[in-house]
Amino acid sequence: MNTTFSCVGCGKCCNDHHVSLTLPEARMWAADGGQVIVLVEAFLSNGLGLPAQQREHAERRSAVVRSADAEALVAITFAAYNVGACRNLDEDNRCRIYERRPLVCRIYPMEINPHIP
Ligand code: SF4
Repeated sequence: MNTTFSCVGCGKCCNDHHVSLTLPEARMWAADGGQVIVLVEAFLSNGLGLPAQQREHAERRSAVVRSADAEALVAITFAAYNVGACRNLDEDNRCRIYERRPLVCRIYPMEINPHIP
């Protein structure tokens, strides 16, 4: 896939987005005083309601959780809680932690799709 993207410095991608974090990044974010949330998604293991492509993706990034006879696929994502401007965005729409910004900020507009090996 070939993707072309040019940042125009508008700061929109740093506003009103929860920033997906790796575990070390979540620790760093919390140590800096930021709020980290845990996003939990669950899918029925029989794929009910999921298109085939989405099901494959859901399976790769989920752990199987059993409860009695039921079985679900559960995916966990750590994220920075950003309502409004990110706590690291300055008045000039520049990132105050640019050199150590999270991976998802480095690869934007691509996204992180964690999976369980
Ligand atoms: S960490 Fe920096 S690049 Fe990432 S959302 Fe916040 S201000 Fe933007």
